[in-house]
Amino acid sequence: MSDLCPCGSGHGYERCCCPFLDGRDPAPTAETLMRSRYTAYVRRNVPYLLATWHPSTRPKSLALAEGLGWQGLGVPATAKGGGRTI
Ligand SMILES: [Zn+2]
Repeated sequence: MSDLCPCGSGHGYERCCCPFLDGRDPAPTAETLMRSRYTAYVRRNVPYLLATWHPSTRPKSLALAEGLGWQGLGVPATAKGGGRTI
């Protein structure tokens, strides 16, 4: 049994955001991209955050504050960019 993904999908990390953060697959929808970026903040995956940041606003580097806590991500609804089947 794997750990639940921090993005709140209810799925295990290995079958949820892990393939995106590892660079194996691109996030297929806006929702999965948003969830994967949240997970990247939780797991302090700065390269993924920078790689998925729009170039027009992306900083040259990113330093995440130490001790920052992430409480959770809620996605009340989606339209057209609905989730993938996992
Ligand atoms: Zn996830």
